[in-house]
Amino acid sequence: MESINFVKRLFQAYYKEQRDLFPSVSNLERREFAFIPWENNVMIRHLGFNSINILTNYILQNVPKHMYSSASLYELPDAPTMEYKNYMGCDLVFDIDADHLDTSCKETHDFWQCQACNNHGVGEAPLECDKCNSKKLSKINWICDECLEQAKEEVFKLINNFLEQDFGLSRKDCSILFSGHRGYHIHIENENLRNLKSQERREIVDYITGKNISLRVFGLKESGGGISRFNQYNYGWPRKIMLKLKDILLIEKKNDLRLELHQYIKDKDKIEKLIADKNDLIINITTQTQKDWDLLKFGYVTWKNLLLKIAKSIGADVDVPVTIDTHRLIRYPDSLHGGSGFKVVEINYSDLEKFDPFSDPVVFSHTNLQKLEITAPQVASIRVRDKTFGPFKKGEIQELPHDIAVFLICKNVAKIKRN
Ligand SMILES: [Zn+2]
Ligand SMILES: [Zn+2]
Repeated sequence: MESINFVKRLFQAYYKEQRDLFPSVSNLERREFAFIPWENNVMIRHLGFNSINILTNYILQNVPKHMYSSASLYELPDAPTMEYKNYMGCDLVFDIDADHLDTSCKETHDFWQCQACNNHGVGEAPLECDKCNSKKLSKINWICDECLEQAKEEVFKLINNFLEQDFGLSRKDCSILFSGHRGYHIHIENENLRNLKSQERREIVDYITGKNISLRVFGLKESGGGISRFNQYNYGWPRKIMLKLKDILLIEKKNDLRLELHQYIKDKDKIEKLIADKNDLIINITTQTQKDWDLLKFGYVTWKNLLLKIAKSIGADVDVPVTIDTHRLIRYPDSLHGGSGFKVVEINYSDLEKFDPFSDPVVFSHTNLQKLEITAPQVASIRVRDKTFGPFKKGEIQELPHDIAVFLICKNVAKIKRN
């Protein structure tokens, strides 16, 4: 409790300082609000506020651990059930979460512990404990530069390759928020999109992830065991796939090209065939008249698998349920994330490239110190601002700046140590 009180006090000081600067979301009085308190972690929802002042007063009084507002607008946002709120439409929201991305760093920094026997391990948690077979495993999903950089990459893919190219939206329509922990939200407020039904949102998100796309639907034809109809003059997916394949084939050094192709095709002979015939292939991609692609005698299935793998690398890895749920609550801008102590930051597209998720959202002091005891069996290292802390082992006592101390307490891997 002492540790929670310490963090809560710092959160309160932050909200007090922000009082007059705290941002209002659009249509504030039409949105549902929700909070998770420190004490019991049970969400309080179905709240409504008529002004930013009333909202900031509430925050200062209650100092929540997490704070959310709805992507939807309602006539009566504080009605106790969805049915009585009178739904008026929902912004289009995309969520990119490092937790769902396939990055190799997870194997080095994620951690699990068996609640029954304390057995523990690094990397992805098994389905059950290998010592006592208990299924009750607690997981600590860590973050690092690699996974948050990958998450940022997905934001660029989403906006540049899909929302702008295929949906006619402008990057100015997209508000980008760092979630304060593992990822980014992209939020589009547009009258025309607000009325999209859940099923229509699913179609959009399926298109964007590129999972389950049908190349046949996009015009790919089986032709004499090969394929035809795809070139860089197509629209949408076929064009994206062809441009990417062309980019790959244009890699000059043979060994680099081999390595790159190996990501999409495992058969070494086929890779060599592709390299040998790359110039003909590039001509096929860049010629507008339709040609058959059986020149490599690969057959339809090999081509299809190769193109689908390329498609997978182009698709933006967004979390599907978030986009299709029209009653979703999303983190409030400038609020603090109780799982990290970092701020939810709204970022201009032009600043995204240089945005540093381990520095820009950090609000607590790096000079005030606090003594902590590490409580988790092991804790991976973490960078905060320009300093890296850890790795730590259980029982270790450290005097650490407030910014990193809050992070470790919020991650539930350390507690306040009294002298
Ligand atoms: Zn166990
Ligand atoms: Zn990582």
